[in-house]
Amino acid sequence: MQIVKYPHPTLRHQSKPLRRVDAELRKMIREMLDLMYEHDGIGLAANQVDLPYRLFVMNLSSEPSEKDQEYVFINPVIVRRKGSAEEREGCLSFPELFAPVVRSEAVTLNAYDTSGRELTYELEGMPARVVQHEIDHLDGILFVDRLSPSSRLAMKEALEELELEFSGSRRRGVIPDDGLITARLNELESART
Ligand code: ZN
Repeated sequence: MQIVKYPHPTLRHQSKPLRRVDAELRKMIREMLDLMYEHDGIGLAANQVDLPYRLFVMNLSSEPSEKDQEYVFINPVIVRRKGSAEEREGCLSFPELFAPVVRSEAVTLNAYDTSGRELTYELEGMPARVVQHEIDHLDGILFVDRLSPSSRLAMKEALEELELEFSGSRRRGVIPDDGLITARLNELESART
């Protein structure tokens, strides 16, 4: 398992709700958490590790020892939004890039945990921002899609650099072509949705 970077096509995949949580899925979730900590992240969506599953992990402390801050959200749905706030955001699929994004200030979220229980979360500030960013991933939306025109312009060169890196990896055969990526995602998805 590794983190895919912009503009990898899996980042544009819109994932469907999962039907069940089993041991294999729990193992993947554990790997996602470990990978998130390894990269000092606070959130990681399944698309970012090249998986078509509607789930993400979060730990705002980014410390593996802070187990009580570790969250897994499966089939998350935002049921209420309140206010709006602008803060700087980054993303593990866009290393070293940060820009301000406007999001709802507070959200109410329904999601399943790893034991299959449905829970409701009332979130505000940073955690509300992170879940909105991660749910966007599950819908194939990236934080750069939500930038103001001026931030977007400021980031243009950095994005082009990532695009060049990506096409280089593809030429070297490190990343398969779009057809193969889509076929693999569909196969994984049809087994669990
Ligand atoms: Zn992200």
